[in-house]
Amino acid sequence: MGKRKICPRCGSNAASRFIYGLIHPDDLDNIRGNYVLGGCVIEEDAPTTQCDTCAYRWGGKQLNLQGDISKFTARTSDCWGFGAIQIEADFQLGTITYSQFEGPFSIPEIKQSIFTNNKKDLLIHTLEYSDFIDWIEQYKNNMVIDGRQWFVKLEFTDGSVIEKSGRNAYPGRWKYFCKKLSELANATFS
Ligand SMILES: [Zn+2]
Repeated sequence: MGKRKICPRCGSNAASRFIYGLIHPDDLDNIRGNYVLGGCVIEEDAPTTQCDTCAYRWGGKQLNLQGDISKFTARTSDCWGFGAIQIEADFQLGTITYSQFEGPFSIPEIKQSIFTNNKKDLLIHTLEYSDFIDWIEQYKNNMVIDGRQWFVKLEFTDGSVIEKSGRNAYPGRWKYFCKKLSELANATFS
């Protein structure tokens, strides 16, 4: 079963595949409407899919998620920093730390568990299935004044960092992402 296409930017499930290469004229009618013509030149990282709603293009990018991650952090809170929940998975120490903060400066309630290989697989799969690499850098909904903010950060052993964040707006598979993180930490993440 293939993965249902959900736009990482706007969450729409109406998307078209790119088709690359030379198209025979007889096939053009059939292709139009079902595909987006990507042209003859296939570049590395060329997108595979385009959202019919917001025209965001994604897919094709590969991130080596196996092996070289040092730390994963995900955090949500209200926009003043209250009610924060944080999950930190440390690939080097082999720990998962789940923290709940009442206020921005309060001492968190911490739950720590072992970051087993099964859980590492679960996290990698979750990042892949959620299209983390294709998330835009910042999700924003300016119509909502308060509400919740979040960030997700991946740190690598070479010192590089990928960070995505948002305020009252979320990537297409955010609910799935939160559900899997809750499984990972054995505590609610939302
Ligand atoms: Zn979209």
